[in-house]
Amino acid sequence: MLERINKFFQRKKPQGKANSGRLITADKHALTPDMMSADALKVVKTLQRAGFEAYIVGGGVRDQLLDLKPKDFDVATNAEPDQVKPLFRRARIIGRRFQIVHVQYSREIIEVTTFRSNQQSQKTNGTRRQTDTGMLTRDNVFGTLSDDASRRDLSINALYYNPTDNTLRDFADGLSDIKKRLVRIMGDPATRFREDPVRLLRVVRFAAKLGFRIDAKTAAPMAGLADNLAQVSAPRFFDESLKLFMSGQGLATYKLLQEYAFFDYIVPDLNACLQRDAIAERLIEQAFTNTDLRVRSRKRVTPAFIYAALLWPAVAQRSKEYREQGEAPLSALRRAADNALSRQVTVTAIPKRFSIPMREIWELQLSLPRRAGARAERLCSHPRFRAAYDFVLLREESGEDLEGLGDWWTRYQECDTQERLDMASQIKEPRRSRTRRRRPKTRKDPSTNAE
Ligand code: ATP
Ligand code: MG
Repeated sequence: MLERINKFFQRKKPQGKANSGRLITADKHALTPDMMSADALKVVKTLQRAGFEAYIVGGGVRDQLLDLKPKDFDVATNAEPDQVKPLFRRARIIGRRFQIVHVQYSREIIEVTTFRSNQQSQKTNGTRRQTDTGMLTRDNVFGTLSDDASRRDLSINALYYNPTDNTLRDFADGLSDIKKRLVRIMGDPATRFREDPVRLLRVVRFAAKLGFRIDAKTAAPMAGLADNLAQVSAPRFFDESLKLFMSGQGLATYKLLQEYAFFDYIVPDLNACLQRDAIAERLIEQAFTNTDLRVRSRKRVTPAFIYAALLWPAVAQRSKEYREQGEAPLSALRRAADNALSRQVTVTAIPKRFSIPMREIWELQLSLPRRAGARAERLCSHPRFRAAYDFVLLREESGEDLEGLGDWWTRYQECDTQERLDMASQIKEPRRSRTRRRRPKTRKDPSTNAE
């Protein structure tokens, strides 16, 4: 038996068609079907019973091989989207650039992708378009399993698992790269990055997330291709930015993004501020450290908080300039926030459900020091109080002197009602800014207690 297996592995491409990848049998890998989500297994079974090929591919396979918990499970099949949809009770076709089927279960969504091809094949009923820089704008040419493997990004993401016979198909020595802890793009690196510049970010993300090295040939053209990132659409860039920032390895990812000069394309305002302000650099690193800790201890994290931190140096510096020109603090802060956000959303389309809380976190930075008397209690019940308080702690942790503000609010929250009254009554209001208000009470903003 052992002899047979050894013989089997001596041949590069065993069995069947030459293009079906290297077949890795159960005794040569550590996966078992019960490591996969029950819903992903159901999807594979349903497709196979209907006569189609179906595999689990991507993070679900890669992460299990590394003993990590997969974020989601993706299924690849030769069934086309309109053949997949009727097989499931709750399924819908989504996307234009890249049509996929979402099969909805109570606990998760399984993404089902039809095998895609890199070429305009004869078998196509879709289209593939490219800009003059080589970027793909539409990618719906269906293909075979091997076509599909070669258009995936990394060797470690091109492993196809068939739970029915517990075998893996490895098209680009992905299993060996997993063992070597190597991130390697498939094909010619520069071409693949130009086709889809998001791959630049994905290489960095997986290197940081998995603690892998980036293969030298993959890394060589990366920094030089950074300006291709400017072509990524703002909604897609926002989604990618969340994967970069909230993976649990945000700090390592941030450092790598800076190393490849990619960060300027994600938050263009930040680096100029960092050069002028050492505290700002610490604030960003601390924000990622705190977010990483929260993600790893499965606490809630919101994109509003991390984006509030990333834009804070620009907002704080600009609002200081406006104040120096005689503008009232809240008005200066709001104008600085408008500036920073209107520029940032053209790069990463931050939805309003996050940008509104970001503004509240910033405005509460002005309100939290003004806590005398009844104000303290009002502030405490503000829906964004917790985030704004965490933001005060973050600013202090990074070296800003806020005269013990964080500590005061920590104690306040631990006190009973009487102690709270005492604490608030001992506070002297900070002196009002000497700048006269130009237009008193022109605007009342219900989202904040700041005045
Ligand atoms: P995770 O879900 O943990 O972020 P993943 O590898 O599953 O990691 P997905 O974004 O879910 O990543 O994509 C699923 C698979 O689709 C990937 O493993 C890869 O094979 C392929 N893929 C995703 N994005 C690209 C891309 N931009 N270019 C080429 N292939 C891609
Ligand atoms: Mg995935």
